[in-house]
Amino acid sequence: MTKQINFSKYSSIKIGPVADVTIVNDCSEFPLNAYMIGGCSNILVGDNPPPLCMLSKAYDYIEIEDGVLRIGAATPSGKIASFCKKHDIGGFEFLSHLPGKLGGLVKMNAGLKEYEIFGKLLSIRTCKKEILKKDIDFGYRYTKIDDIILEATFQYTKGFDKTKVDMFKKMRSNQPNLPSAGSCFKNPGGDFAGRLIEAVGLKGKRNGQMGWSDVHANFLVNYGGGTYMQAYSLIQEAQEKIEQQFGIVLEREIIILDTTLSKGIV
Ligand SMILES: Cc1cc2nc3c(=O)[nH]c(=O)nc-3n(C[C@H](O)[C@H](O)[C@H](O)COP(=O)(O)OP(=O)(O)OC[C@H]3O[C@@H](n4cnc5c(N)ncnc54)[C@H](O)[C@@H]3O)c2cc1C
Repeated sequence: MTKQINFSKYSSIKIGPVADVTIVNDCSEFPLNAYMIGGCSNILVGDNPPPLCMLSKAYDYIEIEDGVLRIGAATPSGKIASFCKKHDIGGFEFLSHLPGKLGGLVKMNAGLKEYEIFGKLLSIRTCKKEILKKDIDFGYRYTKIDDIILEATFQYTKGFDKTKVDMFKKMRSNQPNLPSAGSCFKNPGGDFAGRLIEAVGLKGKRNGQMGWSDVHANFLVNYGGGTYMQAYSLIQEAQEKIEQQFGIVLEREIIILDTTLSKGIV
């Protein structure tokens, strides 16, 4: 089954064309060479995206089973946070202020400061097998998971901590409210991408309806109706200027999906 998705509405940065996306109900339905998307909170979809797929609602569930939390990969972060609040479960409070679906959160090892989704992770399930956390290569906002994640299990610990929710909310207060895909670049060792963007004079710089936020320079924000090309040229300009002035090659945190780029997915 395919579904037409308007990425200028669906993605968190509110950019992208209307494209057909294959909706996958089970392992027999995965299209060859299609790129898996979750909530599109970390993706900039270009004008010519590759074939795309996403998990159906069949993967949107949370269960408590034998002292373990079992969560489907299509479950949104907000739903997990609400479930944990309702059932007094600790360790997932940061998800109340972190957009995405479980598959994307695990793949990116998403988190806030030292709190990350791998903190309570026990295992993931793919079409091929169950993989234990100890067998997954992961680090700060990084995992080496090459398969589609269908489900993950987590330690079940009592004690939802409301003070943490307030703390995470406060941490967000220096970030823009405009549509974005979160931090654009990873922080290079010993420095901050936002500081470097500011140092080369790009903080607040706009290109059409896109711009580097004047609240937090590492956020590429959409002022309304921004386009892929506007976003892409700002990203390139920042990378070039920072490399020229500081000799630092900034690595993008945002994933770009566009087949006109060398590999299509960068
Ligand atoms: C305002 C804002 C603030 C943010 N703040 C933070 C932050 O503080 N910390 C942080 O870590 N992130 C942050 N992000 C980024 C984003 O929330 C995370 O990267 C999140 O994990 C993305 O989840 P998603 O479902 O939207 O994934 P997508 O953006 O759709 O995809 C991201 C990656 O996950 C892969 N993927 C998706 N689903 C699956 C699956 N089922 N199996 C395998 N791979 C899959 C995709 O192929 C892609 O490589 C922020 C984003 C926004 C918009």
